[in-house]
Order: sequence, then C-alpha cells, then structure tokens
Amino acid sequence: MGAYADLHRRSITDRESFWAEEAQRIHWHRPFDQVLDYSRPPFAKWFVGGQTNLCYNAVDRHLATRGDQPALVYISTETDTEKSYTYNELHDAVNVMASVIAAQGVGRGDRVLLYMPMIPEAVFAMLACARLGAVHSVVFGGFAAASCAARIDDAKPKLMITADAGLRGGKAIHYKPLVDEAVRLAKHPPRHVLVVNRGIDKEWQPVPGRDLLYTALAGNHAGAQVPVTWLESSEPSYILYTSGTTGKPKGVQRDTGGYAVALAGSMQHIYDGRPGETMFTTSDVGWVVGHSYIVYGPLIHGMTTILYEGLPIRPDAGIWWKIVADHKVNVMFSSPTAARVLKKQDPAYLKKYDLSSLRHLFLAGEPLDEPTHRWLHDAVGKPVIDHYWQTETGWPILSLAPGIEPAQVKYGSPGFPVYGYDLKLLREADATEAGPNEKGVLTIAPPLPPGCMTTVWGDDARFVETYFRTFPDQLLYATFDWGVRDADGYTFILGRTDDVINVAGHRIGTREIEEAVQAHANIAEVAVVGVADAVKGQMPLAFAVVRDAAKVATEAGRVAQEQEILATVDRQLGGIARPKRVLFVTLLPKTRSGKLLRRSLQALAEGRDPGDLTTIEDPAALEQIRNALLT
Ligand code: AMP
Repeated sequence: MGAYADLHRRSITDRESFWAEEAQRIHWHRPFDQVLDYSRPPFAKWFVGGQTNLCYNAVDRHLATRGDQPALVYISTETDTEKSYTYNELHDAVNVMASVIAAQGVGRGDRVLLYMPMIPEAVFAMLACARLGAVHSVVFGGFAAASCAARIDDAKPKLMITADAGLRGGKAIHYKPLVDEAVRLAKHPPRHVLVVNRGIDKEWQPVPGRDLLYTALAGNHAGAQVPVTWLESSEPSYILYTSGTTGKPKGVQRDTGGYAVALAGSMQHIYDGRPGETMFTTSDVGWVVGHSYIVYGPLIHGMTTILYEGLPIRPDAGIWWKIVADHKVNVMFSSPTAARVLKKQDPAYLKKYDLSSLRHLFLAGEPLDEPTHRWLHDAVGKPVIDHYWQTETGWPILSLAPGIEPAQVKYGSPGFPVYGYDLKLLREADATEAGPNEKGVLTIAPPLPPGCMTTVWGDDARFVETYFRTFPDQLLYATFDWGVRDADGYTFILGRTDDVINVAGHRIGTREIEEAVQAHANIAEVAVVGVADAVKGQMPLAFAVVRDAAKVATEAGRVAQEQEILATVDRQLGGIARPKRVLFVTLLPKTRSGKLLRRSLQALAEGRDPGDLTTIEDPAALEQIRNALLT
C-alpha cells in the first residue's frame, strides 16, 4: 500500500488516534480530554474540553521564531500598492483592530459582519474577531444590498466593518452606500458600522451616531495589546453563507479547534507548504478558499501569504506569474475559470517569468476540464493539482497529497479521498456502492472530519434535513455531486446531482456534455443546460465561447461549427447527449467567484425569469444569451 493510501486508511480505521496526533500541530491553551464526541449523530464535536484560539495560532505563536518574517504581503494592481507586514507587524495591527472592535462592546460569541474589499484591514478584522472570540461573517463584496441584508438578519451582528470602496479593473465599487442600504433594509441592523476609509470614494457621508471611522479610532488605540480569548474547541469561529437549492442562504458554521487542526495538517500534507515559504491564493476573503487558504491556513503554518487585489490580466496577463517570480511563491492556489481566462491570452506571458520557486499549482471550486488542465500543466511546467471541496467542508475532500507522496496527476480528476473523509460513491437507486467506472452519488459517512461545518447557523434541523436525508435508511452527508471512480481509484466529478438532466429517460450530467463539447479544438468554454422538450422531457442546450471567433462570424460559419461540435458530442458520448443547439456567445453568466449561473441560464433558455442575479459578474452576459436564443 502506498504512503498516502496507508495514511487515509489509518485516518478512518484509527480515527481518534490519527486526529489526536494531527492535533499536536497547533497550540492548545488547555489540552482536550476527548478527541471526538459523536454521541449526537450527525453532530460531531472535535477535541472536547480543549481550549485554543485561531488568532493565537495564526499570529502570536510565531512571534518568537519568525517575528521578522513577512506574514502578509498585500499587492494591489488597482492602487499600485505593495505592502508587507511581518508577523510582529501583523500582531500589532490585529491588536489595534481587536481593541477598536472590543471598544464597541463586541466580545465572545458576538457576530461581526464584514463587507470588505481585498485590503489588509479585512485580514486584520478577521483575525481580530478570532482573537476576541467573536464570530465573523464575511459577506463577499459583490453581493447586493438585499443579499447583504438577509445575511445581517440571520447573523444579527453587533458590528459591521466595511470600506468606502473597492476597485475592480480600475473602476470604483462603492461599498459604503451599499452597506447603508443593506442596514436600512435589515430588521436587525448593527448598532455601529466601522468604515475603513481608503480615500477612493470622496463623497461618502458618515451616518451620525452609527458610523465610526477606523483610521481615527486606530490612532486612539495605537499600541493596544488585547489578550486572547480562549475558546472551547467547538465554539464557533465564523459563519460563511452559501446558497443552496432554496432561496434562503445557509450560514455554514465552523468550529475553532477542529478547523485549526484540519488547516494545519492540510498545509503540510496537501499543499506541501513549509513554514517560512510563500503561498499565493488568488481567491477573495469573501469565499471559503479565502478564509482557509489566504488567511488562516498559511498563517497557522508560519508561511507568508499574499493578498492580491486586482484582476489576473491587468496590467497584463503576466501579473500573477510576475508575483510568483518576485515573491518566490512556492504554493499557488487558483480557479479553473482563471485558468481558462489565461488560456485565451498570449502564452508568452508564461514564459516571461522565472517560476522555479513554484512547486505546485492547485485549482478548485468548479470542474476543471481536461483540456484546460492539460494546457496549464504544460504551460506552467509544474504539477497542476485539481482538488475538490465545498464551502461546507472548509478544506479539500478529494485531492492529491504531494506532501506525503509525489503527485501523479490524472487530467480531469481531483484525485483521491482526502484523509479523514470516509467517502462513499453510491448508486442512486438503492444506496449500494458503485463499482469502478460506474457513476454514483458522492457522499461522506459521518462523522465529518475536523474543519467541516458543524451545523447551519441557528438551525440544527436544517443542517440535518439539508445534508443528511438523501438516502432514507442511511445517515450520510450528501455532497450533491455525481462522481465516478476509475480502476486506479481516481475520482472524477460529474456535476451536481441537482443539475442532472433527463433526456428520454436517460440521465445525463450537463458536465459530461460540457466535457464532450470541450473536446472540440475551437472551444474555450461551454455551458450546457437542460431545457424542456415536449418529446424527450429535456434536451441539452449548449452555449459556447470559441477560441477563434472568426469561425463563427458568419451564419454559414456558425452552422458548420455547430455541426462539427454536435458530431464531437456524438463521438464522445453518443447521440443521446447531443445538444439541441449550440449557441455562440463571448461571455457566460457567472458569479464573481466564477460559478456558472446555471439555473439562470436554464431559466432564460426556457423563457422564464432568470431569478436572483445579484452575484453576476457581468450582466452583459445575459443580453448575449437572450440574443443567442433569438437566433
Ligand atoms: P462552493 O461551496 O461554492 O465552493 O461549491 C462547491 C461545489 O463546487 C462542489 O459541490 C462542486 O459541485 C463544485 N466543485 C468544487 N471544486 C470542484 C472540483 N475540483 N471539481 C469539480 N467540481 C468542483
């Protein structure tokens, strides 16, 4: 048995001793008495009786050995700023922020809602909340006021923290008026809003008695030292909202000790990062990837983390590789969407910079198609590791673990079950285990490992109902993803169980059709949705972005391309999966985090209302879809 397989087996069969060992990676103020309390399935409590603190583990613990090492490097191509904070300086900044927050009456268990751009103060605020034992809830800065208000009402924060504005592609995004509107809409508005004034929006007006100016208060609290509030391991560290099948967002609740342990181990086993090295995660602090691998993970591991505010192609498509070269980045983490964006750019940018420091490039968040995976792997010349996880889990479910054994990448697959996860690929009909190359529903046998969500904020029943009721006779956590395992044990994700389409009684994943369409050489990106069909129940419909637009510039060209693509799908999957049409666009409707707005796309294709579009990256995509549908 290989080293990794052995580790995985031990993590399941010897669960408690495995995690007791892993728990030694972090500092415990008080040691735990019990590794796991699973007396109330599916609720798991890890490291019972132990007391710890995320901020202490991420910052204070390193001061003696790496106080002068950079902890946080902030790079903004929006404001042309670069600023580095050593662990000592980060400690000082977090203490000032914690002192300001505490002065507003915020303490253990109180919620603080952050609506922040990618600036150092966002990281200070998260760590400051952790220091105080307050529960942060970061709302991604792209959410509209109404979505923000819904999160305010669910979390009932005592304090909100924001900035005057963010910047995207040189354009100011005014945060403060949006927060004003959200607070106005909320039924449980916070008493105070702390504003970090970046000086971008010169017009914003403080609301008297409610708004507090961070810069002024930070001056008053200069030099403050705020003692760490030690939390019981399973006390909440944060809430992060995620959407599900219903309109109401779910507050994913994370614990403290389990999360710290899971992240600490993943930094070594999965990301293969070493203390003192540098990690560059291109996500946003508003997403789970930002929480785990911009902020907490690398800092807990004593690494330098890069906080990047800007686009991947501005000032040019070499910017990320320049950052890798300038800062000798060892571990990088990005998304398939970003990879596809870069794939459309001049490949010379990748050759321009010295990437020799980089050991691995990790991608996650959405399916990574095989051609993009292959392209990036060749272009970067380093292992590109696709790994799979969810907001709910907080750290990877499927991955390779180059910290344990060299990565044997298989294109299109996020690899193997991560240690701690007892994954089951089950036949939908009878919940029996699917065989090799047989499609199944990906589930996790509880208890969920440390780091995973412990409940839905304020709603234990919803946690059980949403995630543990897929199979009536078995208590299993549903990922809502289809998967298939090949004979070598590599798992492939075939899309959400909730996006399945049914064509003439045959169930087909839209993701599978997308893969097939992607096999055509001229396809850069494609989205397939199921649309109602009077005869077959549903038919797939494809929206494609081509690499060479000249080929679809004329009607005759479009027809020819469509025929070629349909023939490709026939070849890859068979006529049953053949899309009804292939419509050409230059932009797909996506959220800021790169997720396809599949439901909206499907609704438009069926002539229905596209629903909630507050997270859309570029509304122009909708017009394109509407126009394409008219052709
Ligand atoms: P989120 O919680 O928003 O990150 O979304 C999680 C979902 O994104 C998963 O349930 C998958 O459907 C999808 N996902 C995340 N990572 C991957 C991956 N590496 N491959 C395929 N799908 C992924």
